[in-house]
Amino acid sequence: MDVTTTDGAPLPLDDAARAVAKALFLRPEPLCPECRGRVLGRLGHGFTNPERARLAAQALGLEPPLPLDPPDRCEVCAGAFSRIPKWVERCLNSAEGWEWSSFRCGSRFDPERLAREEALWVDVGSAWGESLRAAFNRELGKAISAATGKRGDVDPPDLVFLADVPVGLASITVSPIFFYGRYRKLDRTLPQTRWPCRSCRGKGCSRCGGTGKMYAESVEEVVGGPLLALSGGSSHAFHGMGREDIDARMLGRGRPFVLEVSRPKRRGLPMEEALRAISEKGVGRVEVQDLRPCEGSEVERVKAARPEKTYRVVIAPAFPEAKLNEVRTVVENHPLEQRTPTRVAHRRADLRRLRTVKSVRFVASDAESSTLEVRAEAGTYIKEFVEGDGGRTQPNLAALLGTPLKVRALDVLEVHDGPEVA
Ligand SMILES: [Zn+2]
Ligand SMILES: [Zn+2]
Repeated sequence: MDVTTTDGAPLPLDDAARAVAKALFLRPEPLCPECRGRVLGRLGHGFTNPERARLAAQALGLEPPLPLDPPDRCEVCAGAFSRIPKWVERCLNSAEGWEWSSFRCGSRFDPERLAREEALWVDVGSAWGESLRAAFNRELGKAISAATGKRGDVDPPDLVFLADVPVGLASITVSPIFFYGRYRKLDRTLPQTRWPCRSCRGKGCSRCGGTGKMYAESVEEVVGGPLLALSGGSSHAFHGMGREDIDARMLGRGRPFVLEVSRPKRRGLPMEEALRAISEKGVGRVEVQDLRPCEGSEVERVKAARPEKTYRVVIAPAFPEAKLNEVRTVVENHPLEQRTPTRVAHRRADLRRLRTVKSVRFVASDAESSTLEVRAEAGTYIKEFVEGDGGRTQPNLAALLGTPLKVRALDVLEVHDGPEVA
């Protein structure tokens, strides 16, 4: 029998490989064609492992080809390769009801069999062995692709199949889906993310009225609720490009975020329908724009960004514009030294950090208050910059203007995270 590959190349059997092949065919234990060929699995290109076994036998003059052992008796795989069609069926059954277009395969084998294979490589002196698991995962992947037309080489995949070979069960791990967008927050009582109750830590108690939450709702829930419902997912997580205080509004073009949905049943969601549901749920409180599906890598980008922000600050009592103009040069583009604010000191280390206020602009005054626009580096504590926090922020406007100041209202007007449209 003549075995040729697609390009007709012979198996590159030099003296060393020939010696390995010889030792391999003298082995007493039963080995299936796949497992025997795989001992030379990294020798030459374009061959299947059973082809390698047959070509090696041919080259050694062992013709007609040896009666290769029946797969079920194979000492290494116990017939796993011959049952790949069965594994395809098991995998596809485990993915029933899930939307997916790409996948990867993993498998678990009896560690004793994996050790037996490595011992075999050592015994016959092969430097070309390919592992049982790598080969099985690849062959299973090829068979699933052939059966479904779905792609097995996408990273990250929608699904990962795990074939538990000794147990005979297939299971799936479902990858999350991600959505990028920008939110505007118009409500001064809404936190960005779900905030577990401090007393019960989310279990539900009398203090939180059984909700397990400090606040009835959050931007995360307004955005995540509809996406979770449409996708049939199990939970959501919110990754914002920083966050504003609960009592600050988020205006302008909004703040970038990535919403992650775990274990979604459906992946390709209708974005218009999602936006409509979010705007109904968030009416008067949360608005979302630029919503689109995105890669998981966007989470890292959004979280690592350190954009400058522009704030609108309403300060009492009122002061004249001329007075502000006298002190602007002392704060603009000079180092601002801030100790961890008193209001968060109970949950953060007391650190001293340097930030920069880029500009301070007088907007308007009325009888009670003055309004400024402050543009500052990421992480600047704006309330403390205005009020001074008992001298823990230096310099501060209260000290410079020579009068105690109180921030009445704070809004984020812009997150400067990229090119801005005029
Ligand atoms: Zn085998
Ligand atoms: Zn509670």
